[in-house]
Amino acid sequence: MINEPKLSFEQGPIRPPNEARSLLLRITRNCPWNQCLFCPVYKGQKLSLRTVEEIKKDIQTARDIADDIKALSWRLGMSGMITNPIISHIISNNNYSYSYKSVALWLSYGTGACFLQDADNFIIKTKDFVDILRFLREKFPDLKRVTTYSRSRTVSRRSLTEMKEIKEAGLDRVHIGLESGYDPLLKFIKKGVTAAQHIDAGKKVVEAGMSLSEYIMPGLGGEAMWKEHALETARVLGKINPHYIRLRSLRVPNHTLLYQKVKNGEFKMLTDDQVVEEIKLFIESLDNSITSTITSDHIMNLLEEVKGKLPEEKENMLNVIKKYQDRPETDRIVYRIGRRGGAYSSTDDLYRDQTTYDKIKRLVSELSSKGPNETERFIEEMADQYI
Ligand code: SF4
Repeated sequence: MINEPKLSFEQGPIRPPNEARSLLLRITRNCPWNQCLFCPVYKGQKLSLRTVEEIKKDIQTARDIADDIKALSWRLGMSGMITNPIISHIISNNNYSYSYKSVALWLSYGTGACFLQDADNFIIKTKDFVDILRFLREKFPDLKRVTTYSRSRTVSRRSLTEMKEIKEAGLDRVHIGLESGYDPLLKFIKKGVTAAQHIDAGKKVVEAGMSLSEYIMPGLGGEAMWKEHALETARVLGKINPHYIRLRSLRVPNHTLLYQKVKNGEFKMLTDDQVVEEIKLFIESLDNSITSTITSDHIMNLLEEVKGKLPEEKENMLNVIKKYQDRPETDRIVYRIGRRGGAYSSTDDLYRDQTTYDKIKRLVSELSSKGPNETERFIEEMADQYI
């Protein structure tokens, strides 16, 4: 038994939405590129590589904490199970470090998943990455899934042999921010990667036997490039055929470089309805040989139900879009407010609860009476609360 509740290990600021129940371990700090115009995450922070020894020490600490929490469960008569009383005991007691709270929750979820932070872990030398992964698997032999973020440009510099070694050592999935497959747009947003590099990196991850999640960003092309953004992104994904295509719609926080371009008129944002039209074109343009699963697990997406397995659920996804587009304009506005406020997750919710519908409709009337742009401004503000 360790019983040192102040023990802690390092964790970074972000993880993909579907890694909310994973053990988070930070193996590099920040982003080596850090230039994407839309990205607020690591601005003002420099890349810092952690030594293998530091990372192993953190993994060992996470192991010790997990063992200590299990021992606590036995002491409290819960046979090693991480039950609600154990979680409450740890969360409500300030003697326990944040790491204890984080590991306790992770154990209680029982996902067996681990996400390696931060933005681009293929920057680590292959031999070191392999060493870290082997140590992690040795200390946590029951892990079911180990995943990380990386950039296409970094992955494309690794040989297939190296990628296979990394897979063999225990990395199961890579999350890549593809954002767009349209080269002029990739250049405009300073992604630092070309469509060809996206394709090369994506194919390599898949060929090495790892699962691949590609994030794309509806709305990123703005008024000027939305069509090419949709068409070229569909083309590039058709060449990769990743396991997952994850939608994460553009929002522009005021501390991003893109915000300045919005303010000076250089970048004109799409409305919600235009983004929906763009996603429709994107899905229609996906080649029927693609077998990816589309997910929409980000709160910034308006239509959460646009998700499913390709090609068999392609029509379902297009029907969700059609259903939204066929609604009268007032209902679309009511839905947008309800969705941003957390009341709706499907356009069918509009008609399930008349009280909520009437309440939002009254709000729309009040906003419209204050001025022509008030409703849009209100919806924008609601959407931006998530960024
Ligand atoms: S590569 Fe990722 S983390 Fe780095 S600046 Fe771009 S979006 Fe942000």
